Amino acid sequence: MSSDNPGAAGNPPEHAGLALQRKLSLVDLLDPLTFGDVVDSLGELFHMGVGVIDERGRTLADTQGPGRDFCDLLDATPRGRARRGSLMERLSESPPGAPPGAQGLAPLGASASESWTHPCFSGLRYVVAPISWEGDVLGRIVFGPFVPEEAGDVSPALEEVEGLDVARARELLARVRRLSEAEVSRVQTHMAQVLAALLAAGQKSYLTGQLHLEAMLETQRELESQNTQLLRLNQRLKESDRSKSSFLSTVSHELRTPLASIIGYSEMLAEGLVGGLNPEQMQFVRTIMEKGNTLLKLISSILDMSQIEAGKVRLAFEWVDVQELVESAITSVMPQAQRKGLTLQQRMPPVVQARVVGDREKLRQVVVNLLANAVKFTPGQGRIDVRLSELGPRPELGVTGYSIEVEDTGVGIPESQRDRIFQSFYQVDDSPTREYGGAGLGLAIVKSYVEGHGGQVSVRSEVGQGSCFRVVLPKEPPLSGQGPAYIPPPIDTEPERF
Ligand code: ADP
Repeated sequence: MSSDNPGAAGNPPEHAGLALQRKLSLVDLLDPLTFGDVVDSLGELFHMGVGVIDERGRTLADTQGPGRDFCDLLDATPRGRARRGSLMERLSESPPGAPPGAQGLAPLGASASESWTHPCFSGLRYVVAPISWEGDVLGRIVFGPFVPEEAGDVSPALEEVEGLDVARARELLARVRRLSEAEVSRVQTHMAQVLAALLAAGQKSYLTGQLHLEAMLETQRELESQNTQLLRLNQRLKESDRSKSSFLSTVSHELRTPLASIIGYSEMLAEGLVGGLNPEQMQFVRTIMEKGNTLLKLISSILDMSQIEAGKVRLAFEWVDVQELVESAITSVMPQAQRKGLTLQQRMPPVVQARVVGDREKLRQVVVNLLANAVKFTPGQGRIDVRLSELGPRPELGVTGYSIEVEDTGVGIPESQRDRIFQSFYQVDDSPTREYGGAGLGLAIVKSYVEGHGGQVSVRSEVGQGSCFRVVLPKEPPLSGQGPAYIPPPIDTEPERF
């Protein structure tokens, strides 16, 4: 029965309204296992066979009762089998309301006024009653076989069945229950009541289940539609991000060329190549040079960031001396530090032979950006310490590496902002009256380059006390680094000795 149970396979999802309107079937309403048990126990109680067939002719439950042995004996003869077979076919296949071959219409009780009696040639009898629910016929119940109360000894037709052991047949017939019409009617009424209770409970749980399912499907539909909208929005954002990057890249590139000329010509003026300048003129020229250089740095950062976002950065890997790189970065920011009266030092003893495979220029820029920030955000007379140390094998890197720490005694960064400062264009103080210059790109570039080397950057800080940025670099980057794409370095040769 379960093999072609559409309820078990699940009906197609339907709208809540449709779930209420749809004509339900017995398999929708009855749990097959429980219902089978109920029919078995009723069969035992009535001492009679009870079968339930749905409107598509599928047997949902069948308990054959004490008539089974007699039926088996009949089935053992060709003629008996043929005659019983055609009766069984009529019982299970004929439409419930129109029983061809049924003899006589016997209204059996109030709850089963449309039942039909089907006599068997053997003298036994079956009663078929339709199962109606809310005006629909959902199937039928077959009661029997039983011996009608008025039946006499063995039917003459039985004695004519060739090969039948009549004495044995008589013996088995005596075990089949003999029932009056009133008793059959009572059995039917009883069965109708049990079935009505089961169907009511089944309908309730079916509809509850369908409504629940429908609510879930509705939610899922809403989520899917929101998801589609989000995807579309995301697509648009990506497109506008791409246009922004390409715009920034073009503008920065176009600005760099005239700016280089401005700086170059002011250098020539300052060096007196076109004649001497008086002190005031010299001061003006120096200011032009200084502001020009600041602007050039800003434009370079914008250009770098737009290249990173466009995925165009290629790291040129080689063996890099980290110690030398740190010293070179310190040298380049030293003038600004001194101008502010800051102490800038490498505090730890130099690490011997600190080498990594990396892009020299990009790594230098990482350290310069961190140092430039430390100088910018540390008030006069403050201190900046740089520490380079060797790391043992680290689980997160998978290999040995180095850590570079830049610690200052500056303004510090509030905890709520610490993750966001690595985003491009993010600044803790983004007010128009902000004290410090910059575009909010330095740390985004640091993060991108460090991750491109398979490393990590982190910060700890306390407002008013200072900040410490830590870059961890593996000796050799893993082949699939995060961040900007890079071309694996030609490191199959021995690194040069420092
Ligand atoms: P920029 O320095 O150009 O504003 P960055 O990306 O380098 O951009 O830094 C982003 C923000 O992080 C800065 O605006 C500042 O608010 C904060 N920040 C970075 N480094 C420090 C530091 N050493 N001390 C305090 N704040 C810092």
